[in-house]
Amino acid sequence: MAKEDQGLAIGIDLGTTYSCVAVLQEHLNRVEIIHNDQGDNTTPSCVAFTDHERMIGNTAKNQAATNPQNTVFDAKRLIGRKYSDDIVQKDKMLWPFKVIAGADDKPIIVVQYKGEEKQLCAEEVSSMILGKMRGIAEAFLEKPVKNAVVTVPAYFNDSQRKATIDAGAIAGLNVVRIISEPTAAAIAYGLDRRNSCVEKRNIFVFDLGGGTFDVSLLTIKDKNYHVKATAGNSHLGGEDIDNKMVKYFVKEFKRKNKVDISDNPRALRRLRTACERAKRTLSFAITSNVEVDALFQGIDFYSSMTRARFEEINLELFEECMETVERCLTDAKMEKSSVHDVVLVGGSSRIPKVQQLLQDFFIGQDLCKSINPDEAVAYGAAVQATLLSEGIKNVPDLVILDVTPLSLGISANVGKLMSVVIPKNTTIPVKRTHVYKTLHDNQSAVDICVYEGERTRACDNNLLGFFKLRGFPRAPRGHPVDVTFVIDENGILSVSAEEKTTGNKNKITITNDKDRLFTKEIERMIQEAEIYKDEDKKFLRKGRAKNGLDDCIYKIRKALKKDDINSLLCSKEKKDICSAINRATNLLDGTNEKDDTVVFEDCLSELQSMLERLKAVDQNA
Ligand code: ADP
Ligand code: MG
Repeated sequence: MAKEDQGLAIGIDLGTTYSCVAVLQEHLNRVEIIHNDQGDNTTPSCVAFTDHERMIGNTAKNQAATNPQNTVFDAKRLIGRKYSDDIVQKDKMLWPFKVIAGADDKPIIVVQYKGEEKQLCAEEVSSMILGKMRGIAEAFLEKPVKNAVVTVPAYFNDSQRKATIDAGAIAGLNVVRIISEPTAAAIAYGLDRRNSCVEKRNIFVFDLGGGTFDVSLLTIKDKNYHVKATAGNSHLGGEDIDNKMVKYFVKEFKRKNKVDISDNPRALRRLRTACERAKRTLSFAITSNVEVDALFQGIDFYSSMTRARFEEINLELFEECMETVERCLTDAKMEKSSVHDVVLVGGSSRIPKVQQLLQDFFIGQDLCKSINPDEAVAYGAAVQATLLSEGIKNVPDLVILDVTPLSLGISANVGKLMSVVIPKNTTIPVKRTHVYKTLHDNQSAVDICVYEGERTRACDNNLLGFFKLRGFPRAPRGHPVDVTFVIDENGILSVSAEEKTTGNKNKITITNDKDRLFTKEIERMIQEAEIYKDEDKKFLRKGRAKNGLDDCIYKIRKALKKDDINSLLCSKEKKDICSAINRATNLLDGTNEKDDTVVFEDCLSELQSMLERLKAVDQNA
């Protein structure tokens, strides 16, 4: 890698339904949203497995209807969570793929790949998506990319953030920083630079995506971002809008054709795809067609929807979003008139009605929408990535800071109350020391339990880890022990305790060892990722050989139809060509799927030389 590329860093918005990658091209002074091989700005966060190959992105999503058990999506809903988590238990019911409890209550996704059972953790699935996004960037930049800033929702806790870093590591990426999605969107608009932030600036971020709805109220002062409040609905987004449209057209199909397709998954899936496309069109056109050939029992379905009708069938859903907006402001105890900027994020906030309702709510205030809402998060991540990369890394005031999403504290006292050491929304990196006082005379040791959460009783919060500090000197109760919390730039927490007179120390880095992947495991997964990559490559090679064969057969057959060529060939040559074509067609018919790539390639080079010979004959004729 060239020296100047080592610092090159990209921004990745790893979304629940769609992901997006961007890079700041310094020589152009412009952020580029990098389109994938299909020309799309976002790529489905979807991975699929079949008997022959692994697919990521569009190809995976497109085959979901025919291979539901082995098409994995929503990995972001699992990452950094425990299997027994209520959220996981509820989501599991909605997924067509299998999720089981692994060691230490870690959720494991089970799929069939190449005829064998494969067990994957959420980090691995996310790593495949991150790897895909990295590949998209590398194809565009025409050079390897190693570093990335990856975004996560503002409410992601410590273990979800760490698991996301692990996913990056498995994909061979160095995650230079994890930042919150709303923070990234605000960075994209350079809001921290407006009015030089002498005063506090209040920013409302409205993120309506594919399957989730999140609103956050941020304040920026002196480049510091604080998340004042978040609210949302973890199951509300573009997919619900698609479903409403599907329901509407199922009724119409029934009315027109007297058949009900509501029990036919394949027909529903095809209709849903057409609806999503129509929905996207309705964000800039006032009417859109919905056309599906042979939707059911050979009956074509041709219909259309106006923007007015679209708004009518979704109004309830849009209004629910506005109620959430109101709740978030109430939680933050802020008047809407105090909001300086309203930022639109998420593909579904492209919908004009959503924008209008939001603008009405904020009484005519302009919305920040000059950056495409589904690109704003990756855009901001790319800006942050460049600020952090080589060369300007040491300019601290350019580096925008993030905050802790939950309060962190210890419990070592009577009644097991939570003593907060680092309150929620503290800017990171941060170091805070709390003096613990012994409870008994001559107490010789203490158990330090580290929690995250907002509840008063420690046991109602989430236990992150614990350790013991021993060997205190004989002393009356109230003897001090320093407990220090350090959170680094990525939100990773370490806690240490020290008894000053003896110098006795103990420390833990909250790696959530139970949940988090061990280095060894990550190494194994990196190796597996290489194997997957290798297999994908082989599959591609075989695919190319097959295409080549098909093309060659066609050209040879065409050449043989020319009389002058035919007459110049001896009968042995003709026979050889015919038998080679037969062999090739048999191969392509796939009667023997296990045939090696080399068999295809050998056959291809044989046919290619025959084609060359025919061309030469043609020129001489
Ligand atoms: P995520 O929620 O995973 O972060 P996005 O923010 O990219 O993903 O949102 C994806 C959703 O946005 C999908 O439901 C998609 O159909 C929807 N969407 C994308 N473009 C448009 C558009 N032009 N109009 C309406 N909805 C759109
Ligand atoms: Mg998103």
